[in-house]
Amino acid sequence: MSNTDNGSVAVPAGVQLPIYMDNHATSQLDPRVLEAMLPYFTSKFGNAASRNHSFGWEAEQGVETAREQIARLIGATAKEIIFTSGATESNNLAIKGIAEMYKERGNHIITQVTEHKAVLDTCKRLEKYGYRVTYLPVKADGLIDLDDLKRAMDDKTILVSIMFANNEIGVVQPVAEIGKLCHERNVIFHTDAVQAVGKIPVDVNAMNIDVLSLTAHKLYGPKGVGALYVRRRNPRVQISAQLDGGGHERGMRSGTLNVPGIVGLGAACEIAREEMESEAARLIRLREKLKAKLEGALDYVHVNGSMEHRLPGNLNMSFVYVEGESLLMGINEIAVSSGSACTSATLEPSYVLKALGLGDDVAHSSIRFGLGRFNNEAEVDYVADKLIDIVQKLRELSPLYEMVKEGIDISKIEWQAH
Ligand SMILES: *Cc1c(COP(=O)(O)O)cnc(C)c1O
Repeated sequence: MSNTDNGSVAVPAGVQLPIYMDNHATSQLDPRVLEAMLPYFTSKFGNAASRNHSFGWEAEQGVETAREQIARLIGATAKEIIFTSGATESNNLAIKGIAEMYKERGNHIITQVTEHKAVLDTCKRLEKYGYRVTYLPVKADGLIDLDDLKRAMDDKTILVSIMFANNEIGVVQPVAEIGKLCHERNVIFHTDAVQAVGKIPVDVNAMNIDVLSLTAHKLYGPKGVGALYVRRRNPRVQISAQLDGGGHERGMRSGTLNVPGIVGLGAACEIAREEMESEAARLIRLREKLKAKLEGALDYVHVNGSMEHRLPGNLNMSFVYVEGESLLMGINEIAVSSGSACTSATLEPSYVLKALGLGDDVAHSSIRFGLGRFNNEAEVDYVADKLIDIVQKLRELSPLYEMVKEGIDISKIEWQAH
């Protein structure tokens, strides 16, 4: 039996509403990760820093196993992993910690315009303290131009911070080439790899990455725990601590470790390492099906960002001549993100989409689909059918779409601000 929701698209068997398709925002905890964490909430409750009894040793053992699991996933060694509260903290620690440690060497930092706010706002703060920051533009496909990067580097450059994969449009930057350029010039390379770790291969040595941020909750682990990889040799990278205290984590990050969270992060990395290849293949297939269905049924839709250099589970599409808010309301049982960000009272178009050259209206009428481990094909079919239905209905009511169909050049019309 299939029922119908408030619209005219049937909800097939095997599909439960609401559907979660927003895996770049966060992901569902994998039950296997929860299983690994549970003992550390109850019987194994020790402080990993307690050196003189078995409660402490037991907790420390859990933490050290996690360190190894994380290191293995990114080609690092366990000693190079520092635990944090998440990627916001990892990015802050990396950028501020390097800026402070290497200030004698130079004061110039290079990043790019579509970074996460945890990187952009950290760089903005450093500008107030006298650092010089270059924000590289991106091309229409969302990728930086390596020649721009080369030109931006000078003898005062101490750090390049470029994300591995973008959280809105899913594009994967040329990380290995960036790392090579940095190492040739003796510049430290940090990458916010939150969206990449566990989804696509990451190898800190092959890619010349010196410092890397990751977080558990984007790879089916718990919220509030992350890590920073800090290279120990060729070259050895040093970071000034940003929290003062007991000197945990080799002096780089004080504070009693979140043992259950860390064990969960480790377990999530272990699962990702074993299943990444097959999971990526499955998500690409689902993503391509979603894309093909939407493009097959609708005109004036386009993908934002490079399709070639892209995360398996990401699709970001603009549905031109549809009003963004109405579109989201029409699919209110499907959890996705729009090309709008709520800042205080107003709805601002996404700065990432604007950086690709999209106008405000098109940015607002864009949707980010974030497919993940727990999505299935029936959901993809339903989401596609539902979206097609809503877009068609909204366009029937759209004078703009009608004009375009009649061949009127709407770019010549002046619009009133709304
Ligand atoms: C989610 C995200 C962050 C922030 O991570 P938290 O652990 O939630 O602080 C940073 N960078 C990117 C690219 C992200 O997607």
